[in-house]
Parts: sequence; structure tokens; C-alpha cells
Amino acid sequence: MQSQGKKGKLYVIGTGPGDPELLTVRAMKALNEAEYILGHRKYIEMISGVIKGKKVIKSGMGREVERVKLALELAKDSVVALVSGGDPSIYGIYSLVEEYILKNDLSVEMEIIPGVTALCAASPLLGSPVSGDHAVISLSDLLTPWEEIERRLIHALRGGFVVVIYNPSSRKRKSNLIWAMEIVLRVRGDVYVGIVRDAFRDGESSMVMRVSEILKEPEIVDMSTILFVSGEETIFERGRMLTPRGYAGRYSLQV
Ligand code: SAH
Repeated sequence: MQSQGKKGKLYVIGTGPGDPELLTVRAMKALNEAEYILGHRKYIEMISGVIKGKKVIKSGMGREVERVKLALELAKDSVVALVSGGDPSIYGIYSLVEEYILKNDLSVEMEIIPGVTALCAASPLLGSPVSGDHAVISLSDLLTPWEEIERRLIHALRGGFVVVIYNPSSRKRKSNLIWAMEIVLRVRGDVYVGIVRDAFRDGESSMVMRVSEILKEPEIVDMSTILFVSGEETIFERGRMLTPRGYAGRYSLQV
């Protein structure tokens, strides 16, 4: 006999940088529909105002595999929302869900809802640093060997890209930031770096510093910070960082 259980579904939802006003309409709908909400403690707390009355299962860092297993188990016959800060596919939980499904040959009713990633939230606070080609790198060596991170950073810098840095530092990994800034200094020089902490959260701050200044005060950068290293074309004027797209070369921008 076939199971009479009701049909489950897994939503993997990007919750954006923090402010619930930056949740998408679709994310809101899915959160409303969900019976269970699973996620990292920090991201669940940020959306606590919009998930009242739901069965919430919070866990900490390092518990991702457990969280994904539980979400998939519950999603067999319940509507489950697995939430990830920013966008779930950018240094988020979604790739692990796909990997787990592939490895175990599961068939799951699933919908992925994109979110505003930290890069998109933070860049307009500085100006328009990522309007041209850019490369995105995470300095977290929890899952990636440091030698690989370093190699990719050097290539991105040599390529002239604006380099956006996620996971620039943590309590345990202060040295990664210092090593990365030393590489920037060596390969690109003492350029300007945009620093945004806690974009669209309480305590939001943004500033632009030279690499040498960051090396003197590395504590300015923590795990809630994202960095924008100037590319070949990036300028910093009147307090704004800008990578022009080239309009001035083609059109007159005079009043
Ligand atoms: N999936 C997330 C990224 C998770 S990795 C996203 O799409 O945004 C965690 C890193 O993202 C942090 O170390 C930090 O570098 C960056 N980050 C996430 N939210 C941020 C915010 N509100 N302000 C600044 N940086 C943020």
C-alpha cells in the first residue's frame, strides 16, 4: 500500500543580508507556508519577526551536514524552509543539499529562492565598485586549503578584476586577512579597499582604507565584514568608490 502521508517540500531560502525588508516576496511566501524553519542561529534570529509560531530548529556553525539531513528527512511529509543568509548558493548551504541528494540518489520536491547576497547589499554603501568585471573570493580555509585561496587571489589581482572578499577574517583566522592584504600590496600596490561591516544590520558601517592602513589596524575587519579591493579601473573620489563602465569615453557627461 502507498503511504498516506501528506506531500512534503523543501524550500532553500536566501534571507538576504539581515534587514527583513530585504527578504524577497517569494521568500516571505515560502516562510509563511513552511511548518518547520531550520538554519544557523544567527540567520534565524535576524528573521525572527517574520516566523512567529513556526517550529524553529536552530543550530550553530559546523552543524551543516546534520541540518541538511534533518531538513531532508522532515521534508518527506512536511513543508520545510532551510534558510541561509544572503543567497543560499553563494558560500551558503545549497551546494551541500545538492551534494547530499546526489550522493544518496534522493528524489526531493524542492525550490530554491535566491536572496540578496552580501556583495549586492554592501557595494552600494561604498558607491559602485562592482559595476565592471569582478572576482569573488572567500578567505575561509575551513574547507579550502590556504594555498588554493592564495593562488586564486593572486590570479584575480593579476587579471585586474575588482576582488570581492567574503569571510575575510574570524576570531581564529586573523592571519588570513593579513596574508591576503600582503599579497594585494605586493601584486597590486597600496590601493584603496572598501570595507563594509554588517550591511543592512544593526551597527552597519562602511569605509575605504588603503591596504597599508588595514595592515596597521586589521581588527577593523571581522567575520561580518566584506571587502572590495580596487580593480584596474576603480577610482575613489569624494568619499565614493567607483568602477566606471566607460560611458565617459563614449558620451559627454557634462551638464
Ligand atoms: N551566503 C552569504 C555568504 C555567507 S559567507 C551571502 O550570500 O551573503 C559569510 C560572509 O559573508 C561573512 O564572513 C561576510 O564576509 C559576508 N557577509 C554576509 N552578510 C554580510 C553583511 N550583512 N555585511 C557584510 N558582510 C556580510
